[in-house]
Amino acid sequence: MEKFKILFYVFSSILLIFPLIVTAQKKSVDLIISGGTVVTMDAARTVIENGAIAVKKGEIVAIGTASEISQKYTAKQTINARGKKIIPGLINTHTHVPMSLFRGIADDLDLNEWLTKFIFPAEAKNVTEDFVRVGTQLGVAEMLRGGTTTYCDMYYFEDAVADETFKAGMRGVLGETIIDFPVADNKTNAEAMNYTEKFINKWKNNSLITPALAPHAPYTVSTEHLKAIRKLSDKTNAPMVIHVSETKKELDDITKQYGSRPVEYLEKIGFLNNRTIAAHTVHINDNEIDILKKLNVGSAHCPQSNMKLASGVAPIPQMLLKDVAVGLGTDGAASNNDLSMWEEMDTAAKLHKLISNDPKTLNAEQAFEMATIRGARALHLDKIIGSLEIGKRADIVIVDTDDLNQTPLYNIYSSLVYATKADDVRTVIIDGKIVMLNRNLLTLNETLIKKNANIYRQKIIKSLESSE
Ligand SMILES: [Zn+2]
Repeated sequence: MEKFKILFYVFSSILLIFPLIVTAQKKSVDLIISGGTVVTMDAARTVIENGAIAVKKGEIVAIGTASEISQKYTAKQTINARGKKIIPGLINTHTHVPMSLFRGIADDLDLNEWLTKFIFPAEAKNVTEDFVRVGTQLGVAEMLRGGTTTYCDMYYFEDAVADETFKAGMRGVLGETIIDFPVADNKTNAEAMNYTEKFINKWKNNSLITPALAPHAPYTVSTEHLKAIRKLSDKTNAPMVIHVSETKKELDDITKQYGSRPVEYLEKIGFLNNRTIAAHTVHINDNEIDILKKLNVGSAHCPQSNMKLASGVAPIPQMLLKDVAVGLGTDGAASNNDLSMWEEMDTAAKLHKLISNDPKTLNAEQAFEMATIRGARALHLDKIIGSLEIGKRADIVIVDTDDLNQTPLYNIYSSLVYATKADDVRTVIIDGKIVMLNRNLLTLNETLIKKNANIYRQKIIKSLESSE
């Protein structure tokens, strides 16, 4: 009997200790997001119901079902995402973020008239470093609230754009604009190149900011200057962002001036490579699509901007057939007029169905892919972002699924592309840090941003009146 008693005590103490041993063996991480439908956008397009993600030091260290993750990991902080969608952060591949302050300044015009009569004069009179800071805060706040975690920009005073973006905790490929006429921050090409090199060296090892060179377009930057920009890009390894073949006028002018179509001309002068990001690529032919693919040039498709300025329709279905790295972009808020990637996805999918007269063209999954992993490829950042996979940076967005506009839900990609709106985004995590929690921005003051933007509205209106 005594023997049984001893055995009983030994057995019960093992039972008591066992959970402690298991807990002690659990790995400690910084953050666990648990309970939602995880849309990974990995190569197999894995979707995990009741899934979870573990994050440590800004990196995704584990991904699986909620029970698998809870058995293996403990976290300092846990976010309950039950009943929500967990998606990779959206990637806006083309913007001019400070132009948010010009939202609605002039609408319903073609690109040439819009640029020369309104945008260039308004920029000449108003763009200062402070303008750029206020506009960046406004645009970044809008993008974060809509679940965009990375954006590609080109503007002036890009060092201030980088500073504000970094302070907000957002990721960016940020290009200093180089253009062949005097602009707000630099009056000559030599000044612009000097500014850009310093800017690149300052930010090149930053965890969130990738500094870039941004020659405006083949029709506003000379061949000689484009070649010098490519040289500086080779020296610094920085990406190059450029508008290419946005309008029929550009196609005609470049063909007349250089005897080649824009993409062919840029290839001929040795400008294009696997660090180039070409915005728009609207008027391109099959040969130019092949060049983009061959040289691994990223492309930014901006359907709403192209529609609003009646610039034309990029041959996206053909580009996807040839697996070109094409992402989606909003372009600046002055030609859109918002920075919502949800609208771009929805518009892209519908526009190409209409144009091709085929509803099977550009399905919801392809549109979502362009806003995530293919967008990451367009920015040449697909090794670190664009999908929810072990080893990638933790850029994660939690989206509600129970709003009226999302009910009922049959197909996850259909719901994301055709029904979800920016307002449905709940929580945003970038590089493992929470920047928006339950719709509250943690890194930016929305009230102050709106107040400052409205002060600029008055200044801008005054500046345009005085020129008349
Ligand atoms: Zn643009």
